Amino acid sequence: MAVDSTHAETIALHAGWRADETNGAVAVPIYQTTSYQFRDTEHAASLFALKELGHIYTRIGNPTTGVLEARLAALEGGVASLALASGQAASALSIQNLARVGDNIVSSTDLYGGTWNLFANTLKDQGLDVRFVDPADPENFRRATDARTRAYYAETLPNPKLTVFPIAEVAAIGRELGVPLIMDNTAAPILCRPIDHGAAIVVYSTTKYLGGHGNSIGGAIIDSGNFDWEKFPQRQPALNTPDPSYHGAIWVEAVKPIGPVAYIIKARATLLRDLGPAQSPFNAFLTLQGVETVTLRMERHVQNTQKVVDFLVKRREVTRVIHPSQQTGEMRRRADVYLKGGYGALVGFELKGGLEAGRRFIDALEMFYHVANIGDARSLAIHPATTTHSQLAEESQLASGVTPGYVRLSIGIEHIDDIIADLEKGLTAAAT
Ligand code: PLP
Repeated sequence: MAVDSTHAETIALHAGWRADETNGAVAVPIYQTTSYQFRDTEHAASLFALKELGHIYTRIGNPTTGVLEARLAALEGGVASLALASGQAASALSIQNLARVGDNIVSSTDLYGGTWNLFANTLKDQGLDVRFVDPADPENFRRATDARTRAYYAETLPNPKLTVFPIAEVAAIGRELGVPLIMDNTAAPILCRPIDHGAAIVVYSTTKYLGGHGNSIGGAIIDSGNFDWEKFPQRQPALNTPDPSYHGAIWVEAVKPIGPVAYIIKARATLLRDLGPAQSPFNAFLTLQGVETVTLRMERHVQNTQKVVDFLVKRREVTRVIHPSQQTGEMRRRADVYLKGGYGALVGFELKGGLEAGRRFIDALEMFYHVANIGDARSLAIHPATTTHSQLAEESQLASGVTPGYVRLSIGIEHIDDIIADLEKGLTAAAT
């Protein structure tokens, strides 16, 4: 990092880059290249043998993407990160890096639908068993663990329920048993740093708040560097036994000269190399532009959202508002411990008029975009019962927290008066 700071506002602008050594360019250049000229055969050989870190081929690494990776690692308090083509790729690789056929992971039931599908169907087809447990009781993770459990997985602020995950509690169980906690922090960057609470690995869809402008799909895995893989050789064979795909390297030993980065180097050197979900340098550039202002945007997202919540709770058309600020008891305690600086920028609410009212609400909005996305600088809305959750039976919709009249909002950074005015139009239409 060019400027030494512990403040997210400064890290977001300075980590991983100062200026271009040849031309002095301040903005990170887009290195739109596939490959890199080796100095000589010795240089080439030491790059391939991981004796020296450097660039070989953009599927495995790129200087523009490398700045994004350094910046995200610094922001999250990790040691290294790996940028990927999408959040889905980040979730998949974060698990495939540890679990092989016959192994299992234990996951929270409260997940983004795409992750649910990945776990319940695609990973299952690949021979990995995902055991879903209710995060209301952290001990459920311990109960579902057996000798072949390789990781725990959860989201910090999962929608539609918007109940914050007990990060420290589950991370502590995992550290006792040799099981790393992987946290998807997509909905709560800046507000929460899961590594500070014991998570071993953080994954992101950078498509959302980090990129922030709805222009680039991307993902990232961040390695805390503080999980003791070597202490649990039986539990974590992928990092502790010779890897035939990398001339028999035992990852925890092979990376020692570089640092505590066995997990993330293995993900890059084997999974990214073999499966290929690399992030393009152009997307990395656009995501970096977003990251530079993410701290300011999150502040405004959170302020606007609290005002929207205050508005919605007073409306007669609304029967319930779902937001951490409305929770009580243990759920509220978790929100207060893990979210600093605000309760996030997603709000759910239920309309008295049910499914038809939900439809009318969405159709009457003029400024809000009607899209299946979150975390854009613009305000977004969706009616899950007729869109994202429409393939599920009503019973399953209810189990996932979606009632017929449920509407999800992702509040943007527009002026609050315009946001409220648009919601007013939606609510008037919903009531007719
Ligand atoms: N994780 C969460 C919490 C998400 O909301 C999403 C997408 O909506 C993803 C992961 C997947 O990310 P991507 O769409 O970038 O693949």
